[in-house]
Amino acid sequence: MRIRRARRAALAVTAVSLVLSLAACGQNSEGGSKDESKGGEGSTVGIAMPTKSSERWIADGSNMVAQFEKLGYKTDLQYGEDDVAQQVSQIENMITKGVDVLVIAAIDGRALTDVLQQAADQDIKVISYDRLILGTENVDYYASFDNERVGVLQAGYLIDKLGLKSGGQKGPFSIELFAGSPDDNNTRYFFDGAWKTLKPYIDSKQLVVGSGQTRLDQITTLRWDGGTAQKRMDDLLTKAYGSRKVDAVLSPYDGISIGILSALKSDGYGTPAKPYPLVTGQDAEVASVKSIIAGQQTQTVYKDTRALARQAVQMADAVLNDKKPEVNDTKTYDNEVKVVPAYLLDPVSVDRSNYQSVLVESGYIKASDLT
Ligand code: BGC
Repeated sequence: MRIRRARRAALAVTAVSLVLSLAACGQNSEGGSKDESKGGEGSTVGIAMPTKSSERWIADGSNMVAQFEKLGYKTDLQYGEDDVAQQVSQIENMITKGVDVLVIAAIDGRALTDVLQQAADQDIKVISYDRLILGTENVDYYASFDNERVGVLQAGYLIDKLGLKSGGQKGPFSIELFAGSPDDNNTRYFFDGAWKTLKPYIDSKQLVVGSGQTRLDQITTLRWDGGTAQKRMDDLLTKAYGSRKVDAVLSPYDGISIGILSALKSDGYGTPAKPYPLVTGQDAEVASVKSIIAGQQTQTVYKDTRALARQAVQMADAVLNDKKPEVNDTKTYDNEVKVVPAYLLDPVSVDRSNYQSVLVESGYIKASDLT
């Protein structure tokens, strides 16, 4: 650790002399000139991601590595494979090896209190990535999307496509609700956004939850597992539907949507006589975008992981250079110990009508990957 501190002190001296020499030349050291960002040299960023089982996290990890390396940082990227103890020990190892800053997408948002105390003891700052780390003061900044808006987009899409927005007493339509992992703080935000959007139509009985399961603790999906969602959907179709049809399914994530669609297919959906219900999703993963093109899944929510990586990188780079990271939200994300200053990006609803312009033309997905 002494080595790291010494290195940081040396960097600080370099930074001070840089400012002094700029001042001596009569130049303004403010204004974000490229010369100012020197932080990279010699520093290592520990990046802890949750799992490689979902495409998005692979992209998050590699986007961050590329962007940090461009600034001269070294990186140590680890995936916890949805095993909480493994992620904790990966972070412990990073601390032992002397990383200078940590960027973490937690598997279980509440499981990192002890390990982050070790980080704080070594003066290592922590950026919470995409998922807020809960119950500890040792989290410095949060880079994410407007998570409640994700749920609003999913539910709003269903309301719109069922024709409920235009008023009048349409329906009743049957709907089932799925939520994400109970240990991921985002789950609550996604569902809150969806629920407040659906609620007026449930109250007016234009939407009916066939199973009656509307409480978050009844509809979560541990570790966002598609197989778990498939089993629950199988069960719902058998117990709550019989010969009746389900018209819409609120799904919070593409992997869960794929599971739900498998259950629907096994139950005879996907024919002209029994078309698939509307099924939402999140992350614009290739398998789901293909499914959308094929007329199975209906919608997904695109969150540009390249842009998210950029925010995490600017935050880490700033804290290592004793600057204040850029944030755009200082109110929303209370982790039960403090409100964590955040930079929130905008999610975008995608379906068959706009996937080409939003996903392909922006370079997020290659056209050839969709054929
Ligand atoms: C992320 C989602 C993702 C889900 C499952 C959430 O925390 O915000 O983008 O779909 O985890 O990986």
